[in-house]
Amino acid sequence: RQVWRLRRRPVGEIRDGDLTLEREALPELADGQFLLKILYISLDPTNRIWMSDAEGYMPPVGLGEPMRALVAGRVVASRKPGVAEGQIYSGLGVLADAMITDGQGLNRLDLPKGLSLATAFGALGMVGPTAYFGLLDIGRPKAGETLVVSAASGGVGQVVGQIGKIKGCRVIGIAGGPEKCRYIVDELGFDAAIDYKNEDVGARLDALAPDGVDINFEQVGGAIMQAVVARLRRFGRMPLCGLISGYNDVEPADWPGKWGLVLMRRLTIQGFIILDYVDRYPEAIRDLVGWMAEGKLKTRQDVRDGLDRAVEHLNSLYTGGNFGKLLVRVSPD
Ligand code: NDP
Repeated sequence: RQVWRLRRRPVGEIRDGDLTLEREALPELADGQFLLKILYISLDPTNRIWMSDAEGYMPPVGLGEPMRALVAGRVVASRKPGVAEGQIYSGLGVLADAMITDGQGLNRLDLPKGLSLATAFGALGMVGPTAYFGLLDIGRPKAGETLVVSAASGGVGQVVGQIGKIKGCRVIGIAGGPEKCRYIVDELGFDAAIDYKNEDVGARLDALAPDGVDINFEQVGGAIMQAVVARLRRFGRMPLCGLISGYNDVEPADWPGKWGLVLMRRLTIQGFIILDYVDRYPEAIRDLVGWMAEGKLKTRQDVRDGLDRAVEHLNSLYTGGNFGKLLVRVSPD
């Protein structure tokens, strides 16, 4: 098989040689194991966190080990009772075109009617439930409230904004560049977009939401986060989903210096990791699939071919080179 192994902990952006693509033979299957041919790999901002030995929510990938990734694949051989050739599994795997597994961290994927594997895995695998629980459980949106979401055209952000609309919020998305901004307003029905690469985020927020912001679904951190936090209303909520602008920093990510506002305005800020919600996935999938079937929720996947360019594609996440949920198609479904 071909597999990417972590050879060095990246400093800043991932560079050539931090990971290497290697060809190796797989051992024979043991009892209780099965062989998965990997069809899709999800490239996620958190992949960079897994390469670092700074404190995270999972142990870092060890040097020399296969790089961890979320995958979807087809069973091509099985010595595990209950697992049959042809079945599709998805979940925690490795950045490779095949893996031998005992099934831990993987679940059988039943394709909801009418959805391709790329959509079911890309939109419903992790980013859909992240948007669903982060917004509904932590953001607690109410009709008429103003919701701001950053990285708004990406995997999580596009779903957050549309669920916000389903719940009756006024939704402002922050994204990089006119094409992404047009997409979230014209195609996804957000009320407004702010192009942070060409516009002053604070000034645009003042114009679009003169009474302030009720919910900030935070995915970026840094100056964008500071601009939104400064405009949160009393009793505002801030699901803290991600801080992507800091993931390639050599020093720990910066943090807004406006903690006084959190106190005075009695804001709720809660970090969350989607792993804590795994038992409630069926609830999210039921609603997400229902909204897709009703035409209320659209998702966009950015599918790239070829395992050999996976790391280059991964790097594009941190500069906004992706448009939608980034997947690598390793092999045709
Ligand atoms: P996206 O599809 O949103 O891709 C990342 C996007 O982030 C880029 O396209 C880019 O969009 C934006 N971005 C990158 N760097 C910067 C920067 N310096 N400043 C502003 N925007 C930037 O990825 P996901 O939807 O998978 O993830 C989005 C966020 O959610 C990440 O922070 C991720 O870590 C987090 N996450 C958290 C989970 C949890 O359990 N807490 C689970 C899943 C994701 P643009 O072109 O608009 O700048």
